[in-house]
Amino acid sequence: MFNFKFKVFFSFCFASTLTYTVQAEILLSGAIKQGGLVIGKTLPSNTVTLNGQVLPVSIDGDYVFAFSRDDKKQYELTVTSPEGTVEKKTLIPTKRDYKISRVEGIKKSIMNPNKKANIRAKQDREMMQTVRKVSSNLTDFSQGFVAPRKARITGVYGSQRFYNGQPKNPHYGIDYAGAIGSPVKAPAAGKVLLWVPDMFYSGGTLVIDHGHGITSNFLHLSASLVKVGDTVKQGQVIAEVGNTGRVTGPHLDWRMNWHKVRFDPQLAMEIKAL
Ligand SMILES: [Zn+2]
Repeated sequence: MFNFKFKVFFSFCFASTLTYTVQAEILLSGAIKQGGLVIGKTLPSNTVTLNGQVLPVSIDGDYVFAFSRDDKKQYELTVTSPEGTVEKKTLIPTKRDYKISRVEGIKKSIMNPNKKANIRAKQDREMMQTVRKVSSNLTDFSQGFVAPRKARITGVYGSQRFYNGQPKNPHYGIDYAGAIGSPVKAPAAGKVLLWVPDMFYSGGTLVIDHGHGITSNFLHLSASLVKVGDTVKQGQVIAEVGNTGRVTGPHLDWRMNWHKVRFDPQLAMEIKAL
């Protein structure tokens, strides 16, 4: 008797699961880790929320989100069909250990930049904040990312220095070695959002929009080969390595954002198109 009841119950569950699969299945690619980028695919008519925040879903059913460097939150991803079928998934980004280094005996003048520098840096920051609010309907993020350079990696995401015991801002990009003028390629297709040749800290700064708030930021460039509004293809040479801004030598610093969230480009290169 027990067995029979169980069987009936089981087939009922199976039938409803089958309905879910068609209407609101959660299909993801990406690392559920601090600094991870995650892309999802669903039916375009479905509504997707992450802890209650509605994520835009493209006409092909693509959506995207990311976790910050020190994300300690738990997330509930919900996909709801127009008929009201709901699928939920709890996501807890895995904690990561970042490279920490300590430097003592730094001069006070370097520790505290002057007033003029601060004003300039504030203007740059405001410009970047404006760019990060952009949420276009491009879906180039859904095809995945390739490295902008085939070169030695000299700096990684998340690493942090302490000067005289004071924590500096963590490093949010991947640094690639390169001489001035070496080519920088677009990691994915997109549209040029910003080009400023002389930001205070980041020097020649180029931002490419890959859609839904996902951007690539290229720092310390000597030149841009594209202009604001241009559409770029994946692998297209878009800029040249430089030593502009506050740097000790020429290199490329590639950073990625989901709006304000800075995630790890290395993890972005691991996602697969769904
Ligand atoms: Zn860097």
